Amino acid sequence: MKRREFLTKTIAASTVAAAATSIAAPNVIAAPKFRWKIVSTWPPKFPLFQTGVERFAKRVSEMSEGRMKIQVFAGGELVPALGAFEAASKGTVEAGAGASYYWAGKSAASQWFTAVPFGLNAQGMNAWMYDGGGLQLWEETYAPFNLIPRPYGNSGVQMGGWFNKEINRVEDFKGLKMRMPGLGGKVISKLGGTPVLLPGGEIFTSLERGVIDAAEFVGPLHDLKLGLYKAAKYYYTPGWHEPGTVLEVFFNKKAYEKLPKDLQNILDAAAAESNAWMLASFDSQNGDALETLITKRKVKVRRFPDEALSSLRQKALEVREEEASKDPQATKVHRAFNTFQDRVGLWGSISERSYFDAIAKKYQLG
Ligand code: CA
Repeated sequence: MKRREFLTKTIAASTVAAAATSIAAPNVIAAPKFRWKIVSTWPPKFPLFQTGVERFAKRVSEMSEGRMKIQVFAGGELVPALGAFEAASKGTVEAGAGASYYWAGKSAASQWFTAVPFGLNAQGMNAWMYDGGGLQLWEETYAPFNLIPRPYGNSGVQMGGWFNKEINRVEDFKGLKMRMPGLGGKVISKLGGTPVLLPGGEIFTSLERGVIDAAEFVGPLHDLKLGLYKAAKYYYTPGWHEPGTVLEVFFNKKAYEKLPKDLQNILDAAAAESNAWMLASFDSQNGDALETLITKRKVKVRRFPDEALSSLRQKALEVREEEASKDPQATKVHRAFNTFQDRVGLWGSISERSYFDAIAKKYQLG
């Protein structure tokens, strides 16, 4: 065989062999290389919150072409719902999902990364997280717990809650027993009301039986499913206590750092994509549900009077200051948040707000 012919045949043979290898390769590495578990704080199938965690895991698998699989557990399925933070922190599981204000007992600063009463809305929270230093502060806050946080969703502005009497002035909160978690609950206390902590599943019965006088949950989509319109007459807006609730996934730092760089990028990208998807889904589906509540369930939607909102805001600012003084990290986050809110708030007031005012007539409450 001449040298050239030999070379040609050899190259051809090795090309065929290489092609055969590349065809066979997916079968050889079919099993995912990285298997993770994520435990959430949400009930099974809880719309958008839990279905969002499932969607996130599915997207990671798709984006990594099956190299990474995340098995999803709803609250209580593997660890207690509020055990998610600890489980991921200790490395019992690689990841968790929830809302950072659940971990106020571990770090006061964590409350700023979910919802701040009279704080930023969803657009503002995204601006703070992705471009205003918010995510870096959040990473810093979770670092002592070996966790890396990422926003994976946002509810948008929530509703102000369900009431059986009209709220005409701030004094109407006095003596009111209201389901309201977090910093918002502390504001209710300052006004002489009693905040009550209740899981979602217990709100309807408590409201119907008069164990509580009022309740906030999420917004039209979730509140309609819970049937809260059957237990209260008035549905108030806006949800001043949760103006743009950020939902989180968090990764065990060691597990995250063991991943190749491209899979770390895929986790980050899937979380950011999920964040956009969830806010869009909330906006779209809340719109449908609100129409059903108003037209079919004859719910009376009311806006808190300006005077009441102004008093609520004043008390909320006091609560924010008090919480901020609890530890140095909370003080640091609080200051950064306020500076950012002032800046972005001025811009929002001459852009988004000015536009909404221009189209407001068509959408005035009846
Ligand atoms: Ca809520």
